[in-house]
Amino acid sequence: MDRPHKHPVLKLEQYRDMPDHPASSTEQNLITGLHKISLVLKSQAWKGAAPQKLTPTQGEILVQLRQEVNGQTLSQLASHLGITLATTSDAVSMLVKKGLVSKVRSPEDARQLRITLTAEGQAEAQKSAGWTDFLLEAVQDLSPEEQGLMLHMLLKLIRGLQTRDHVPAAQMCLTCQFFQPGEGPSSPHFCQFTQTPLKPMDLKLDCPDHQDIL
Ligand code: SF4
Repeated sequence: MDRPHKHPVLKLEQYRDMPDHPASSTEQNLITGLHKISLVLKSQAWKGAAPQKLTPTQGEILVQLRQEVNGQTLSQLASHLGITLATTSDAVSMLVKKGLVSKVRSPEDARQLRITLTAEGQAEAQKSAGWTDFLLEAVQDLSPEEQGLMLHMLLKLIRGLQTRDHVPAAQMCLTCQFFQPGEGPSSPHFCQFTQTPLKPMDLKLDCPDHQDIL
């Protein structure tokens, strides 16, 4: 396999060196729009989790565990959900007390504990999974091109937050050494791991083959 090309990503020091400047009206509008979405997400998350007497974080952990039959480690859960290890650990402890998850030794490495759903947890996870449907309907109003563009922009925003230590590292294309950005706005990107083109809508937020940029 060819040695991956590095792509230009600002380092943390470079971001810190950038001069402060007042937000333009477009920047302010973007922040207001993101804030509105965060508020509705928060209120819907509480509404979705309340009947089950779960916090939104506990509900998200159950939904995340549905996708992994063999469970996940605490650090995997924290990384997938973009929350700290301490918050994940507290939420998992509460879920263990409620009998919705259990901690089991990994078959591959007995030193490693994996969090898995109990039978009751499976049923609760099923109920928790539907709370984002309201957002899915709005996302489906966008064309495939708009969805791809939005995904790319979201990844760039997350990368910016990650570089400033505001969110935990995510295993996404924009921070992967195998990612080769397209030459122009309409040309596809390329994954040097799979040796395949990546359209904006194919960009990954949580890729098992991700390797951090060195
Ligand atoms: S698909 Fe995975 S391996 Fe390929 S560039 Fe994206 S994160 Fe990296």
